[in-house]
Amino acid sequence: MKTLIDKAMEKPCNLSLDEIERLLSLSSSDDRTSLRKAARALKHRYFGNKVSIRGIIELGNICAKDCYYCGIRKSNRNVERYRLSIAEIERMAETNAALGYKSLVLQGGEIESEENTRFIEETLKALAKFDFGITLSLGEQTKDVYRRWKDAGASRYLLRIETSNRELYSTLHPPSCDWRRRAECLKYLNECGYQTGTGTMSSLPGQTINDLAHDIVFFNESKAVMIGMGPYLSHPDTPLAKCDLISNQDKLERALDMIAVTRLYLHDVNIASTTALEALAADGREQGILAGANVVMPNVTDVTRRKAYQLYSGKPGLDETSLAAKERLDAALAAIGEEIDYATRGDSPRAQGE
Ligand code: SF4
Repeated sequence: MKTLIDKAMEKPCNLSLDEIERLLSLSSSDDRTSLRKAARALKHRYFGNKVSIRGIIELGNICAKDCYYCGIRKSNRNVERYRLSIAEIERMAETNAALGYKSLVLQGGEIESEENTRFIEETLKALAKFDFGITLSLGEQTKDVYRRWKDAGASRYLLRIETSNRELYSTLHPPSCDWRRRAECLKYLNECGYQTGTGTMSSLPGQTINDLAHDIVFFNESKAVMIGMGPYLSHPDTPLAKCDLISNQDKLERALDMIAVTRLYLHDVNIASTTALEALAADGREQGILAGANVVMPNVTDVTRRKAYQLYSGKPGLDETSLAAKERLDAALAAIGEEIDYATRGDSPRAQGE
């Protein structure tokens, strides 16, 4: 195992699919600890003890899609739907700036319409005064829409592929959702000049270690410079809720393994320690950093809106103010020898080298 880790640390993409699978299959806690320590050492090689931060604003929970695992899927009648106004978004962006965050993520359900395209364009123009690095996470769109939003001021786009296994993807989505279109959207994003991010879920019903190894290879093939992965967490109002049979501890271990092996394979990309890890353990986000992640994305949406945006149940921080969350995060990171990088927007070295 040590030989394999040493080989991975020499240079990016220095592992075969079989070797990735072997690293994802470690079961002893000593081996897993060694894996995560090596991944954190690589994180330190590229980012030192700095952790990049982006505030997330949840723009709205209206979505045209019906993904079988998602709490805000369009068929869920138990959700009170909302969409923020541009004035509300500006106010939350002011909070983001006041906290010292230089990057912002605008996230919402997937809507393909001229009205929505214009709304996002106008929002981006209204936010230009803050000079944030802005990431959009608004799903599949046409290349023309991606280009318009890039021209309006977005610089990054996160579109999770969810799984690189097309058959598994089809068990998670209705027939109208086409894996190939999603993969094509990632190409469009690269062609439009975004720093493109993608990611997957782990611990999905029916998922194998081989699937996860393919996911990591897919990240490289899709030229992603940001990776946002999370464990599958079920929501009671979804068709897949009854298929969620894996314990929280096992989900956490699997998610941390994915972070560690992705770091060992890709080296210099941004990897998020996502909020979903906190749903599995109070210190889940710190454990993600200790496994090689280098980005955190606290929620800066007003607490009055947060309850309506729950993709999975048990989402943490629903009542915590953005300032309290920042103070808690600063203290938690200091306790593991890390600190927020308040000086930069946190572009990945791989994107800067392009
Ligand atoms: S996962 Fe995304 S696209 Fe699918 S229903 Fe939820 S918000 Fe919509």
